[in-house]
Amino acid sequence: MSSELQVVHSEILECTKCELHKNRTNAVPGEGPPDARIMFVGEGPGQNEDEQGRPFVGAAGKFLTELLESIGLKRSDVFITNIVKCRPPNNRAPRKAEIEACNPYLQSQIRLINPRIVCPLGTPAITSLMGSEYSASRFHGKPLTKGKVTLLPMYHPAAALYDGSLRETLFHDFQILKKLSENEEALHPDAPKSVESSEEKQTLEKWA
Ligand code: URA
Ligand code: SF4
Repeated sequence: MSSELQVVHSEILECTKCELHKNRTNAVPGEGPPDARIMFVGEGPGQNEDEQGRPFVGAAGKFLTELLESIGLKRSDVFITNIVKCRPPNNRAPRKAEIEACNPYLQSQIRLINPRIVCPLGTPAITSLMGSEYSASRFHGKPLTKGKVTLLPMYHPAAALYDGSLRETLFHDFQILKKLSENEEALHPDAPKSVESSEEKQTLEKWA
């Protein structure tokens, strides 16, 4: 892992910036290649993630792996994280103050990994990265390019565990991801993966 990303992850492991640190077993910084071209951002760790310190290792994670495999990707090809890095008690939704306290970590991860495509999963992740006017139901599968990064909002894979009709929607939206990433590859075969211009940093910070 790049040393700067490692520093961010060590800070997360010791963080006490919001109430969520009180009940956690392990903080879950996220995992994947430090120069991943595709990044997924979920809502927050659940029980399994809290126990293992790894993102998306429960039932929703199993479905995420299946979705990735449907477009020829492995989990280890992509970076996976969440808008809050510590488990909300009883899996309640993360609160605004918690999301805001944790957001600088996500922004640093995006800046350092410098992915080409970021997929926020579910409305809380979508509104955090794109703004309060966005939601999964209205904007899933609709890419939005901001500077060098394309945001592709999707339903959360856990939503499909409750509402089976969303399974097909997610498989369909992953096909859109596949096309986007092929186009990206064709347009920028040698694209530098890690850039740290201050200009780019500002673009990303505007989404916060
Ligand atoms: N759901 C999430 O949003 N994130 C995880 O890491 C696991 C389940
Ligand atoms: Fe820190 Fe984020 Fe965990 Fe809150 S959720 S304690 S801000 S790492």
